[in-house]
Amino acid sequence: MSLNFRTLGIISAVTLSTLSISGCVSTTNSGTLGAERKQFLIMPAAQWEQQSLTAYSEIIGAAKNQRKVVSNAQVNRVTKRLIPLVGHFRADSANWKWEVNTVRSDELNAFCVAGGKIVVYTGLIEKLKLTDDELAAIIGHEMAHALREHGRERASMSLVTNLGLKYGASALGLSGTEYQFAELATKYGLTLPNSRKHENEADLVGLEIMARAGYNPNAAVVVWRKMAEATNNKGKTSEFLSTHPAPVSRIESIQKTIPQVMPYYNAAKVKKS
Ligand SMILES: [Zn+2]
Repeated sequence: MSLNFRTLGIISAVTLSTLSISGCVSTTNSGTLGAERKQFLIMPAAQWEQQSLTAYSEIIGAAKNQRKVVSNAQVNRVTKRLIPLVGHFRADSANWKWEVNTVRSDELNAFCVAGGKIVVYTGLIEKLKLTDDELAAIIGHEMAHALREHGRERASMSLVTNLGLKYGASALGLSGTEYQFAELATKYGLTLPNSRKHENEADLVGLEIMARAGYNPNAAVVVWRKMAEATNNKGKTSEFLSTHPAPVSRIESIQKTIPQVMPYYNAAKVKKS
C-alpha cells in the first residue's frame, strides 16, 4: 500500500509508556497458501489503528472537500463480495468496520489501512480498464496487507531502529529475554519487514480471498502485466508500483500458486450459478 508510516507521521506520535511487547505472533491464520511468518509487533494495535484511521479520515476529508470522492458501482460491488471472506484469515476482521471509497484521481493507486478502510483511485480502474476479476485481485491484495498488519510491522521495526535498540528496550521496560529477542530479531532479520516478504504474503492471501469470493485468480497475473505495461509506456513508475515492486518473479510465483486456489474459485462459481 502506498500509505506508509512516514506519510502518517506515526513514529513521532508514539508514546513510549504505552508500548508493550506483543512480539512473536502471526496476525492471521496461514490460509491455504501458508502465510504463517511470525511477526514482530511492538507497536500497540489500538494505537496503530487509531493513527491509521486519523490519516485515512484526513485523506478522505480532503478528497471530499475537493469533491473527489465518487461513487463507483464496480468498486462497491467487488469489495462487497470480498469482505465476507476475511474471517478465514482472522476472526476479528469480520467485525472490522470495513469501508471503501473511490477517489477521482489519475494516479494508479489503491490501499487499505488498518481496520479495513479501503481507498481506490479512479486512475487505476480507468487507465488499466480493469475487469471485476482484476479489480478483485488488487483489492484482495490490499486487504491482505491490512489483515497481516504489514504497516504496523514496519512501524514496529522503525520504532526499534529509530530509538536505538538499547534505549528502546529500557524505555519499553523489556525483560532480559524480551530484549534478547528484539535484538536477535533485528540482527537476523527474523521478522524484519521486507517489502518482498510483505508483497508475497499479500499476493498469497489476496489470491485466496479473491478465489473464495468467486473471482478468477488468473486475473492477478493479468493485472500485474497491465501495471507493468502502463508503467513502461509512461516511462514513469506509478504510485502503486513504487510501493509494490513487481519483479518478474512475482508474476511467476503467482502463476505457480494459482492451481492451489482454483478449487475455491470453482466451488464459488458453482454456488453462484
Ligand atoms: Zn502490496
